[in-house]
Amino acid sequence: MGGKTALLYSERFLDYNLGPLHPLRPIRVKLTHDLIQSKRLVNGNIASIMTPRMASEEEILLFHEREYVSLVQKYSERGSGLLDAGDTPAFKGCFEATSLVVGASLEGCDEIMSGRFTHAFNPSGGLHHARPERASGFCIFNDPAVSINYLKTKYKLKRLVYLDIDAHHGDGVMYGFYNDPSVLDIDLHESGKYIFPGTGFPDEIGGNEARGLKLNIPLPPGTGDQAYMKAFRKLVPDIVRRFRPEIILVQCGADGHAEDRLAHLRLTTHMYGEVVSEMHSLAHELCQGRLLLFGGGGYTLANVPRVWTVAFATLAGARLDNTIPDGWSREFSELTGEDPPKGLQDEPTTDDLKTTGEVDKVLRELATYLSL
Ligand SMILES: [Zn+2]
Ligand SMILES: [Zn+2]
Repeated sequence: MGGKTALLYSERFLDYNLGPLHPLRPIRVKLTHDLIQSKRLVNGNIASIMTPRMASEEEILLFHEREYVSLVQKYSERGSGLLDAGDTPAFKGCFEATSLVVGASLEGCDEIMSGRFTHAFNPSGGLHHARPERASGFCIFNDPAVSINYLKTKYKLKRLVYLDIDAHHGDGVMYGFYNDPSVLDIDLHESGKYIFPGTGFPDEIGGNEARGLKLNIPLPPGTGDQAYMKAFRKLVPDIVRRFRPEIILVQCGADGHAEDRLAHLRLTTHMYGEVVSEMHSLAHELCQGRLLLFGGGGYTLANVPRVWTVAFATLAGARLDNTIPDGWSREFSELTGEDPPKGLQDEPTTDDLKTTGEVDKVLRELATYLSL
């Protein structure tokens, strides 16, 4: 399929730090970059590292309200305060840190739209919960939402696909574009009956002209690769093809992986590879390969770098063996105090009849709302 992949990376991504006891650990982004490097996936022919820029205030205002942006600036200077009901504390320099996350995603948009790269990955991005007027769920500014509006205004795109496979519902993006027919938003997540943010049910299909262009697929806790892929394949490729996107954006939160500290799905690197591979093929088939990948959640440090390395290698078209380089394993132990993972890839998980039955029920329910 060809094409080059950009990895947006700066050590300054580590500045997005909500505190030493906070479950969102910025070190996961550095560990991802270092694992990708140690697997020798960055070589001039297939992939390069690009240094991100900061988003300007004007760009952040493409999605966020001015009053909220000013509040983030004030709290950022002061180095204290809560930006939502309690999960997202302000810290010194948080305005600059989150502007860099947004800037990296916008840089990814520019690299792809200019044709310099076919795909781009911002592992610090995917902050999909933030709302126009407030922070939410560890997310200060919503970089996927700003990216969508940036692509619409700067590049005049009219048909964008946003797929969100984070374990949590991408509510900030979904409701930010709920009535917008230029965005097909597909969101697979652990059901809001069990986890944050408690939204994203099959009857939410978009409003006005956008009816049928928002798909929510809530999954029961314990869903493994087999049932997940069945749901994905049944719904996603056909609807994406019918929509004929000009670009595909994928939020690839790694918290759907088995044994995540905050969520309860049972996915493996195998499923992430399959989903990214499918979206990658669709991008080449439908929109000259244009695909922007974001990180997202992911709270078990032994999993996140592996999931994102598999996703990145899939975009770059590189083959991966299962070994974890010794140097990276030592670094992992030193930085985290935890045991390093044994292999890069997991064995796929299967599903019992109960989970498969529950997922089938969700698909039937969704079909009635969409009259598929
Ligand atoms: Zn490609
Ligand atoms: Zn999440």
